[in-house]
Amino acid sequence: MPNQTTAPQPIIIRMHALDNVAIVANDGGLPAGTQLPDGLLLVNAVPQGHKVALVDLKAATPVLRYGIPIGYALKDIPAGSWVHERLLDMPSARSLDNLPVATVKPPPMAPLEGYTFEGYRNADGSVGTRNILAITQTVQCVAGVTDFAVQRIKAELLPRFPNVDDVVALEHGYGCGVAIDAPDAIIPIRTLRNISLNPNFGGEVMVVSLGCEKLQPERLLPPGSIPLIDVRSGAGNNAEAKLDVVCLQDDAHVGFMSMVESILRQAEQHLQRLNARRRETVPASELVVGVQCGGSDAFSGVTANPAVGFCTDLLVRAGASVMFSETTEVRDGIDQLTSRATTPEVAQAMIREMAWYDAYLQRGGADRSANTTPGNKKGGLSNIVEKAMGSIVKSGSAPIANVLAPGEKLTAKGLTYAATPASDFICGTLQLAGGMNLHVFTTGRGTPYGLAAVPVIKVATRSDLAKRWHDLMDINAGTIATGEKTIENVGWELFEMMLEVASGRKKTWAEHWKLHNALVLFNPAPIT
Ligand code: CA
Repeated sequence: MPNQTTAPQPIIIRMHALDNVAIVANDGGLPAGTQLPDGLLLVNAVPQGHKVALVDLKAATPVLRYGIPIGYALKDIPAGSWVHERLLDMPSARSLDNLPVATVKPPPMAPLEGYTFEGYRNADGSVGTRNILAITQTVQCVAGVTDFAVQRIKAELLPRFPNVDDVVALEHGYGCGVAIDAPDAIIPIRTLRNISLNPNFGGEVMVVSLGCEKLQPERLLPPGSIPLIDVRSGAGNNAEAKLDVVCLQDDAHVGFMSMVESILRQAEQHLQRLNARRRETVPASELVVGVQCGGSDAFSGVTANPAVGFCTDLLVRAGASVMFSETTEVRDGIDQLTSRATTPEVAQAMIREMAWYDAYLQRGGADRSANTTPGNKKGGLSNIVEKAMGSIVKSGSAPIANVLAPGEKLTAKGLTYAATPASDFICGTLQLAGGMNLHVFTTGRGTPYGLAAVPVIKVATRSDLAKRWHDLMDINAGTIATGEKTIENVGWELFEMMLEVASGRKKTWAEHWKLHNALVLFNPAPIT
């Protein structure tokens, strides 16, 4: 009876002792009639990542996963049944009133010392993991000209500057046709400003402007916002220093090639200075890591995200900065977050950001439940509550020490809640503005996501995905579901890989293939 001897052992995963459901871990799911290790017989076939009722669930019973109600049974669900989203009534969002504030005081974590990487030390004290020339743009109108110039810079100049990793045009859709004085316009403007100052760009700010746009260079980068470099002498902050701007409408430009030559001429000076830089040994505390997930499934919260959470704790212990984000994916765990805040002020800042986002969604006639995708549901995530519980574990267990509003730049060490939408590109763009020099991205359904400005380490939640996408996924956390590895094993593997990637000794798959998603600004202000 070969089928019986080769049939895999049924594996189900329960996250919390209170849970009355568990998820099926086996590739391909399990057929009806399968006997689970505790003797329970499956009433229905249950797809991989989907939930099975461990006990009889009467109508209106809370369905518990991660020890909290992810929904209420809409009708009686017998033990052994497939529990999918159509059987669940989703709880309403936790009120932002009377939240527990700074109530959890975890014992201090032992410092993690002696870990280093090879990075580029910048004049402002930050450290780059890559040495990239970024060309800032004030407005979308200049994107075509800048891209043309960048292709020529790569072909004609870059080979002469071997210590420079890349040239990146910071293309975006903002800059004109927008209500630039509306209160929320500060978000896209400061996002662009702070991306220009990302540690991976070495403080070499050069701008391409059209001339007539609303977002004038002085508004994007006002005096004092950046270390100005005298483009003739290379000395910083002297009387001759000024913002390096190539303005396409400048009278001096006669014809397209004149604009392109101007950009090449300015770029060369920045490339010379970037090329003279060398990596030096710096402590792991100089890492500024942004974590996020995309294309999530029910394994995200079981394998990859807990491993990232373990790694987040390692980074915090090493004195580094870690940003977690994705407001709609943590909204349902707001009480966990405010209770983990180091101070009441930090908790209040989190509540402020959540309330702002609730109002933003409400203006658009939506709420947090608009977050979940068809792929999330196919992967076993019934609703945003279940997704949020699995997403939040990326933040590990450290106290939350700081909060960033969208587009702000991070200055603190430790664990930070950087408020951003969960949209992969917008979250990544805002974490870049926060000063991220390394990005970790977990995925269950699979996405080839990448950014041009920072290395992105992608973590697969399932072995099946890691095997099929063997040249896109950097780490397989699916081994946690099968018991081959522990959360701690994979968390350490990720930590060690971060130091290799940050040092430039290893490239991520997204870097290898040059897979770069667009910068997408978060602009909640009106378009004109
Ligand atoms: Ca995301």
